[in-house]
Amino acid sequence: MTSAHMRFERATEKVAGRVRKMRPSAVRDLFAAATRPDIISLSGGMPDVSLLPQSAVRKAAKAAWCDQMAQALQYGGTDGRLDTRRVFADLMRDEGIRCKPENIIITSGGQQALDLIAKTFVDPGDIVITEGPTYLGALQAFSAYEPDVRCIPFDDHGMRIDLLEAELQRIGPGNPRLKFLYTIPNFQNPGGVTLIPERRKRLIELSHQYGFIVVEDDPYGRLRYDGGHVLPLKALDDSVVYLGTVSKVFAPGLRCGWIAAPSGVLAKVNLVKQGSDLCGSSFDQVLVEHYFTDTPWQRTLRRFVRTYHERRDAMLRALEAYFPPEATWTRPEGGFFIWVTLPSYVDAASMLPEALEAGVTYTPGDGFFPDGRRGRNCMRIAFCFESPDNIDEAIRRLALVIEQKLEL
Ligand code: PMP
Repeated sequence: MTSAHMRFERATEKVAGRVRKMRPSAVRDLFAAATRPDIISLSGGMPDVSLLPQSAVRKAAKAAWCDQMAQALQYGGTDGRLDTRRVFADLMRDEGIRCKPENIIITSGGQQALDLIAKTFVDPGDIVITEGPTYLGALQAFSAYEPDVRCIPFDDHGMRIDLLEAELQRIGPGNPRLKFLYTIPNFQNPGGVTLIPERRKRLIELSHQYGFIVVEDDPYGRLRYDGGHVLPLKALDDSVVYLGTVSKVFAPGLRCGWIAAPSGVLAKVNLVKQGSDLCGSSFDQVLVEHYFTDTPWQRTLRRFVRTYHERRDAMLRALEAYFPPEATWTRPEGGFFIWVTLPSYVDAASMLPEALEAGVTYTPGDGFFPDGRRGRNCMRIAFCFESPDNIDEAIRRLALVIEQKLEL
């Protein structure tokens, strides 16, 4: 062993206990190895940024590079630029939320918001409630603060509020360990399901009865392909902590999201954020500001919606055509994802190398649960990135792989 290697070994022994508990993702390693050009990917949740008009992006970038360069290249306040916060307040108003720019803090994407919220509220062992399955990036962000995550299953109408109520009864009203409930009410990641209005109302009632914060994560709300708009939780109750992002309606490479919350919460989040990054990227904020004020972004959004709508339909059609009757899946009204459930004896994680061999990838379901034990017979398939023809071919290939696993 070289001395440099020994120094490295000693350094890793000193890693904090909470980091040692973090699980590396075998799936990510596998995807990294999958570079064959013929592989069709249903695994990532990447928006198709090739749909963005270059002229609009150039115009917004020019404002940041040239017209407002001094500001774009300078530190900003921890809360973020007021003009950008005004843009986000306007975006929320379209959705039915009344929120002042002063009640917004800008973050480096929704992902940093998740980290900041957990860092602000969670002591080791505190209870956090989520849908089960839920966004794996949220589980990753929360896990650094060692919460006791309780998962509530969903059905076609979103989180099962009856099961939530049963869990809350077990936890007990006013339990100081219970901190927040994290939900993705629109086109959930990974489930694709949407929380219906009656359940939204009941969820708010329960948050008051049992004393927990509702954290509403809504990256996909504007990507609706059918059905009517459902009012956000934040529109029903101003005490809700709302997380937004430009990632899915503009571009994820600009790390720009926000938290809208009551001022007491924001003051604490601001303190936490100071230690994290002082301020978000001023450059990204100026660019985002101009994109949403000086370009026909609504037209581009309609283009995103039209394209993803076609891709979702292509995936649902292919599932009907090729998948065996033993499989069931959700039918999302928007967003990027469909959640597939296979017979309980099929292990989607160990099937992945065979799917790769057949030229298709998906995300196995176990990663969307905190214990990695549930969801083994499930998978998330994303329709956002590939063309309808590729989606059809990918589902055909996947069906062949699944069929080999079925006990006849
Ligand atoms: N929340 C959910 C539910 C997501 O699906 C994602 C991205 N896939 C994020 C938050 C984070 O997105 P970003 O950091 O790009 O805003």
